[in-house]
Amino acid sequence: MAKIMAVNAGSSSIKFQLLDMPAEAVIASGVMERIGLEEGIFTLKYDGKKEETHPVLPTHAEGVELLLHTLVEKGIVKDLKEISGVGHRVVQGGEYFKDSCLVDETVINKIAELADLAPLHNPAHIIGIKAFQKALPKVPQVVVFDTVFHQTMPEEAYMYAVPYEWYEKYGIRKYGAHGTSHKYVSERCAEVMGKPLKDTKIIVCHLGNGASISAVEGGKCKDTSMGLTPLEGIPMGTRTGNIDPTVVSYICDKEGKTAAEVVNILNKKSGYLGMSGRSNDARDVTAGMNAGDHRCKLTFDVQAKRIADYVASYWLYMGGCDAICFTAGMGENLKHLRLNVAKRLAPLGVEIDEVLNDTFSDERIISTPSSKIKLYIIPTNEEVMIARDTVRVAKIK
Ligand code: ADP
Repeated sequence: MAKIMAVNAGSSSIKFQLLDMPAEAVIASGVMERIGLEEGIFTLKYDGKKEETHPVLPTHAEGVELLLHTLVEKGIVKDLKEISGVGHRVVQGGEYFKDSCLVDETVINKIAELADLAPLHNPAHIIGIKAFQKALPKVPQVVVFDTVFHQTMPEEAYMYAVPYEWYEKYGIRKYGAHGTSHKYVSERCAEVMGKPLKDTKIIVCHLGNGASISAVEGGKCKDTSMGLTPLEGIPMGTRTGNIDPTVVSYICDKEGKTAAEVVNILNKKSGYLGMSGRSNDARDVTAGMNAGDHRCKLTFDVQAKRIADYVASYWLYMGGCDAICFTAGMGENLKHLRLNVAKRLAPLGVEIDEVLNDTFSDERIISTPSSKIKLYIIPTNEEVMIARDTVRVAKIK
């Protein structure tokens, strides 16, 4: 039995989950938010309890110190020595990282170098790693990259048709994102279907605030919708997904903005927020749609069309597909979006069972027995993947 801390450090937050391995049971979880601001928020869940406090957290280091101190103080662990490993989520591993690995100086420098491709995430992950290294110097730290799962994409799937030197000089290509989620969901789906992973063709629709779709054949990613950055693909909470890049120069000319400013709008003010004009939160957009707002309805239709387009093209690319999985906040909870997507896929022989789709429960099948492709809801679990990799890479017994 080993206790593993799975960590996702952002620029002003640290999400964590303490897991008992190999049982994969969650001992405690929570988040520290508003690090660096006047007052932070520390939410801790354990033993069926949820506690919130408002400590001052000047930097991530104080956040980690407080977290570890609290775990002992509340008796969640008797001694910090019980924590055998820490696994850190890292968004961008480029082409360099083909697997999770133990942290050392070279690894940290490489993650820093790759920050150009993930300027909001990679620097924050390094801060998180250093804070845990300082607090738990004898405990192995492992980094688990979102991009690793997509490294199996064939060249024809990850290359852009741009001047080849851009790839050679700057690494311009598709890297994908949410890989840890796509891996978990596709593996879990194979288990649920009772089919060996190597014989499966699965399309995973990770639909959260950020959203991506991937084609997973025999447990390996064959294509994915996110690109050089998480802006490519289907429309998301605040991101456009695919558009004609000419829009950037056109809006620069019309509104006197720089390319960086326009790209920022494509990242932060587009998608659900931009189209509906209401919110990036699908619940608000659903309320608008139910009240008869045309733009809210259009927002879902545009996204559902694009999701169906990707699914159909991945079906073709894999030469068929056993199952389509819905996961993440919207995929797991938004029945009208799943129905909208499934209906568009009817020509592929997809039949959704509307009663199962409407019934609230966790992991489940939502297609009819005669559906040619099975539809599943599989709640994602990135933390468990981080913990599994930490145990594997650090050889924790
Ligand atoms: P991320 O991790 O990318 O921030 P999530 O996976 O948490 O995103 O998904 C956030 C999205 O899921 C939001 O648009 C939110 O409206 C939607 N969502 C979450 N819970 C529900 C729910 N119970 N009903 C409908 N939509 C939900």
